[in-house]
Amino acid sequence: MTALEIAAAVRAGERSAVDVLNEHLARIDDRDGELNAFNVVTADAARAEAEGVDAAVAAGDDPGPLAGVPLALKDNMCTRGIPTTCSSKILEGWQPPYDATVVTRLRAAGAVAVGKTNLDEFAMGSSTENSAFGPTRNPLDISRVPGGSSGGTAASVAANFTPLGIGSDTGGSIRQPAAFCGVVGMKPTYGVVSRYGLIAFASSLDQIGPFANSVADAAAMFDVIAGPDPLDSTSIRDYSPDASAVLDRGVDGLRVGVIRELSGGEGSVDGLSADVLARTNEAVEVLRAAGAIVSEVSVPSATLGLSAYYLVAPAEASSNLARYDGVRYGLRVDAPTTGEMNTASRTAGFGPEVKRRIMLGTYALSAGYYDAFYGKALKVRTMMLRDFAQAYENVDVLVTPTAPTTAFRLGERTADPMTMYVNDVCTIPSNLTGHPGISVPFGVGDDGMPVGVQVLAPALGDELTFQVAAVLEATASGGVS
Ligand code: GLN
Repeated sequence: MTALEIAAAVRAGERSAVDVLNEHLARIDDRDGELNAFNVVTADAARAEAEGVDAAVAAGDDPGPLAGVPLALKDNMCTRGIPTTCSSKILEGWQPPYDATVVTRLRAAGAVAVGKTNLDEFAMGSSTENSAFGPTRNPLDISRVPGGSSGGTAASVAANFTPLGIGSDTGGSIRQPAAFCGVVGMKPTYGVVSRYGLIAFASSLDQIGPFANSVADAAAMFDVIAGPDPLDSTSIRDYSPDASAVLDRGVDGLRVGVIRELSGGEGSVDGLSADVLARTNEAVEVLRAAGAIVSEVSVPSATLGLSAYYLVAPAEASSNLARYDGVRYGLRVDAPTTGEMNTASRTAGFGPEVKRRIMLGTYALSAGYYDAFYGKALKVRTMMLRDFAQAYENVDVLVTPTAPTTAFRLGERTADPMTMYVNDVCTIPSNLTGHPGISVPFGVGDDGMPVGVQVLAPALGDELTFQVAAVLEATASGGVS
């Protein structure tokens, strides 16, 4: 059943939220030993929430548009009184004193949070192998990674542990795992979803967004979490989208662009695999057949995105992660002086990728290097904004692969960080610009694993990304090829 079907049945009193929950908890019990999608399952709290939903229905109240739908929360979303770890040892034992805004909104809409999902430590990674609690496995093939950093949430949705999941996306962490697991994942425009209660990685890039098994479910969830929040000063004030309302509008007359630099052809970045490019081209043809006007556009700075991102993101992370000092949160390793205690706690608490990013970021921000590294990366970011603005003078949306390849095998890319970083080449531009992007499953690669196609739009084009994705989904599931 889809999330919307569950919610309709629960609201109509045809199914109890408690039954729905038990069914999903049983699946988690059965299979999460193998997949490791969850850091913690909060069965008792979930039962209490589900009972509340059933009580509301019995009393004749409307429990909300996501009534009784089980939900997975990436473990970097603050949940009051429930451990929130970022899959890091440094937050060991820490329980937030408040809920993230998305958690509050989803609960108010009737969704039932069943637990916290695994991620690359502090969301740094593309495979969930950087978790301090062991990797998550891809439900479609357990020898493969689910992608990352929101790998636990993607796996939970793909394995039908929960119809809905919440992730965060700083450089692709919603869209890439969605692609690897064959589900829908969407990164909203920066500022459309409140970041209050999201543990910061790189604050100017982070956005929260939905995971689901269908575009309509993802849109319903997006509609609940989007909108202004006084608790997040970067939240956009006058935008309360209704993506669910536009899903059947089609693409007749819509101008669709293909980015030359991400198309595999001349002038393109390397490493985009042939099967992924073939599915992406088929997706573009589907849109053309549905009435879209297709053209090629150039976004020259797209080739510089990776370099800029891997300076901006670590720079912001090195500052954001300075707060984990052994005093205020989680782990403390005692030592004779405060300075030694700080060092010992951080040395024991952070894993190798997080330490690498802190060092890279600190270096990029140091006096004498600031202009050469961080300053330059900011210039690339500005160039990218200009390049996309120019592209969007001629097209309404852009279509690219979500990730260069399908899901790779565990251990395949852990030896060299660069092989992991290149995963993000197609997703990073929209984090640097703040634009929205969605990944929708579209066929499979040569290895039989799902391929995700990405639809990008200008700032506040969030609804449009869902509208186009709905057309692709209808064809992909109708089996066009
Ligand atoms: N893979 C990217 C990184 O490691 C993106 C992570 C993310 O979006 N949180 O930084």
